[in-house]
Amino acid sequence: MGLASKPKQADVLVLAPHPDDAELCCGGLLLLMRAAGMSVAIADCTEGEMGTRGTVATRRREAAAADRILGTRARVNLKLPDGHLCDDERLRVALVRVLRTFRPRVLLAPHWEDQHPDHAAVGQAAEAAAWLCGAPKFDPRSARGIAAHDRPPYRPETVLYYNNRYGIDADLVVDIASVFERKLELVLCYGTQFGPGKKSAGKAPQTKLSSDRFIDFLRAMHGFYGFKIGAAYGEPYCVKGPVAVKDVAGWLGQAPQSAK
Ligand SMILES: [Zn+2]
Repeated sequence: MGLASKPKQADVLVLAPHPDDAELCCGGLLLLMRAAGMSVAIADCTEGEMGTRGTVATRRREAAAADRILGTRARVNLKLPDGHLCDDERLRVALVRVLRTFRPRVLLAPHWEDQHPDHAAVGQAAEAAAWLCGAPKFDPRSARGIAAHDRPPYRPETVLYYNNRYGIDADLVVDIASVFERKLELVLCYGTQFGPGKKSAGKAPQTKLSSDRFIDFLRAMHGFYGFKIGAAYGEPYCVKGPVAVKDVAGWLGQAPQSAK
């Protein structure tokens, strides 16, 4: 779907450098949000054409399979060049446009530090875009495209930065134990990229991500974050700035027996 088609608003928008990052890094939270009745949109910034394994066509099919499991409301591809993303005007304008289209209450973006430069670039540009999309006169050169009458300025209420390749110093960890196996299903939709994919990418070279050990790593990594909060599996996120708590009971969960 292109952005030229009718805008669809969503409660949550994931900015993903490549098709597969949303599921790999946020799949647990997204499944929980869907179970709570929230709508999810995903904006893949590139088509993953630089990937060692698979092709643009296989990645599209894999993303579609993941969308069917997740019940994604909308998924767009910004078709920016894989491997060449920088926190620059082009990326910021593209992110502002997609933000004003979907108008999510919650924005999920990559952590601003990552070994993969595309991930770091999207994380840094996302912070800027989350502010710029509320500035009515932002980028008059592209006003026709990004400040169109049906995409007025707005800002997301919450921006969460998701995990990078080797782990972040999490500000919050979501208990995803109840959906962890389904998260793995989402991840394994990308058969050319993750897990034992020898069959699904022909003679393409093996990578760390396509080895059997990657699934073991995912269990261990989510177990590590889960342990910090007393859960079997957890998904880590960082925030910048203060976290607003408007619903104390909802934030703290069920009150302890001693308080009753
Ligand atoms: Zn990626």
